[in-house]
Amino acid sequence: MDKLSIPAGQNLAHAYIMASPNEEQRNAAAARLAAAMLCESADAARPCGRCAACRKSLQGIHPDIIYTGPGTDGQGRKKREITVDAVRAITADALIVPNEAARKVYVIQDADVMNAQAQNALLKLLEEPPERVSFVLCAGSASRLLPTVRSRCELLRVNADAAESEEASADAKVLLGKLFSGSECELAEWCLTNDGMDNRRCEAMLRAAREQLADLLPRSRDRAACVRADALLARCAEYLSVNVSAKSVLGLIAVDGIEK
Ligand SMILES: [Zn+2]
Repeated sequence: MDKLSIPAGQNLAHAYIMASPNEEQRNAAAARLAAAMLCESADAARPCGRCAACRKSLQGIHPDIIYTGPGTDGQGRKKREITVDAVRAITADALIVPNEAARKVYVIQDADVMNAQAQNALLKLLEEPPERVSFVLCAGSASRLLPTVRSRCELLRVNADAAESEEASADAKVLLGKLFSGSECELAEWCLTNDGMDNRRCEAMLRAAREQLADLLPRSRDRAACVRADALLARCAEYLSVNVSAKSVLGLIAVDGIEK
């Protein structure tokens, strides 16, 4: 992808999710976004790369950009989850004023491996952010973050995998259309027509549908319906991952997709 750049004059949100299945790319984009947040340039695209703040940020030595993540175990392997302790450390640190910049930026790498307790603690911070504090959550998939966390953040995607994503996002769009149509008949008919879909395609469709829901959520007038649909799709994805057939999963969607 082209390097992330924020146009001059564009306001920045206080919390972002930087989503990409590619770890290197999402971390690089998050580092540039953090630099853009602290860039001192008023009339250039940020990060400008020239101001004192950018020079430090882009070298990874700005004292007001704080990186955190799952950490590693004794053997140097990445830990499987981020626990609430990491979020508590951020909460405590966020009360201390920035060293030199106008704000502090917390970059949480692999934020989607935060366990539920950690995510709920983070949610509190996002709901009532201390002054002069911003967040960038890096995630392989935004769908693993709680809907409540997602709804507090602006979602940016890096290099969504083009080959798979076109088919999957078209499938997902139709599926969500049927799910929100309010017509059980229409939904059931669509599920029946498509139940020959293979598991891989079904899996990609569910993933894309959950990503689209994550996008919809902050703007949706019916959050409860979005959250409900997301829970159903998450359950379906879980079934697929233990080799339940796409046919059965679509059957489940047909039966449970529309609230009775
Ligand atoms: Zn700059």
